[in-house]
Amino acid sequence: MGVRSYLFFFVALALVSCQKKMAMDHSVWESSKSKKTPSFSEREWNSLDKTKTLTHQIEFKSQRIANIPVDGSYAKLVQDQKGVARYIEQNRLKVDRQAEAAWSSLIEKYTPKASIVGPSLRSQFSALKGLTIERPELVFVFNESFLQLIWRALAYDSKGLGWLVDTDLDVTKYQMRRAGSSFHETTATVYPQGPKRSGLQDVVIKNLSELEKLVSPELRLTTATVHKIKDSEDSLRFDPPDERFDQVQVFFTVTKALDWFRDRLGVSLSNPLDVQVHVGYPDKTNTSFYYQGRIRLGAGDGVSYDKIPMDPSIITHEAGHAIVEALTRLPYENEGGSLNEAFADFFAAVQLDNPNMGEVAYLNGPFKRTVANPKRWTAKTGGLYHDSAIVSGLLWDLKRDLGVDKTLDLVLKTLARVTPSTDFQDFQNKLYFILKQELTGEPRAKVARILREREWPEF
Ligand SMILES: [Zn+2]
Repeated sequence: MGVRSYLFFFVALALVSCQKKMAMDHSVWESSKSKKTPSFSEREWNSLDKTKTLTHQIEFKSQRIANIPVDGSYAKLVQDQKGVARYIEQNRLKVDRQAEAAWSSLIEKYTPKASIVGPSLRSQFSALKGLTIERPELVFVFNESFLQLIWRALAYDSKGLGWLVDTDLDVTKYQMRRAGSSFHETTATVYPQGPKRSGLQDVVIKNLSELEKLVSPELRLTTATVHKIKDSEDSLRFDPPDERFDQVQVFFTVTKALDWFRDRLGVSLSNPLDVQVHVGYPDKTNTSFYYQGRIRLGAGDGVSYDKIPMDPSIITHEAGHAIVEALTRLPYENEGGSLNEAFADFFAAVQLDNPNMGEVAYLNGPFKRTVANPKRWTAKTGGLYHDSAIVSGLLWDLKRDLGVDKTLDLVLKTLARVTPSTDFQDFQNKLYFILKQELTGEPRAKVARILREREWPEF
């Protein structure tokens, strides 16, 4: 199943006038509290099913607007054995007649096109080619503030698993999820903090696609080796040095990093990351880079690097570039590149609570570089990583003296102003602007002291 199956789409309909009046109303009625039984017009409410129990009769209805079902709407009517209404609970979207008329014309226009939606989905999206797609229906979907009209179809894959495929009226994007049950999860064996700081452990990996291993809404992992993980595999429990272990380890570490960025910074990528491991196979390469939504990792040549997939700092650093790119579009060379590296290192160090980069994989020393460094502003040489240490070192000192939460807040606010043309000077201006805006008293004095020690321009 393609990465695209997880693209979230929003079909903004140009019916602003009716959006304002819409709200999903939840209400409860009890016969003991009110005599007047709510009525349900046949025009608006479609009866789904009735079920008898020993004590009651239960009926469910769903709401329709202009004869199209409203996703998430329901009415549950409970009667006693004599057929007297006792309890009613409902979720109903309020729509006025004028808005309904506006929707009706759109519905009239699209209804005849139902038969071409399935073939159109299959021909446009390679991931859907093998699916049997049933005739789709128009559905209203209510998303907090606005109402969308979409196509929804039930589809079956080659294994007979059922999927719900939602697509916009003109079939330009789609979203798909398992019909009936929620996401798939499985057990995997990993080093949660990398092999130097943790032992092998079984963890649960959630949100996996059931069709392909190591595909989630956030990332899709592939390998250049011939040792691919079979879709029929029951779990993701492999032992190192099995190459499949590396794939699982990287998937776990990238997922953990992206979860951290979402939870701690509120930042999520708009597109899933495409991650490939064992790049260059069968050659062992020292590749580790991020570019335009892709992370590429080699195995390590065994001379300067080894076990790159097992190094959490390298993986987390690369995932950090994706976040920095989304926020700033900083380049990868010159001063902007050094800033880019500094943020990626700093975020990795904070997440892993370890200032040292490359501790697991780097062979020519205890680590490749560290954010716990005293490098001064005045030591700038133009070296990409040399200069990145000037900024990552400052951020690490801020974290030491201001605490993680405050420092992340300051960094995030500064990143909000950083652009592709930001160099060290511009970064310094923007950082100082935020520091002055956000800090007073003792914290501000602490920061001034750090900046002075590190020979930064006058604060
Ligand atoms: Zn980097």
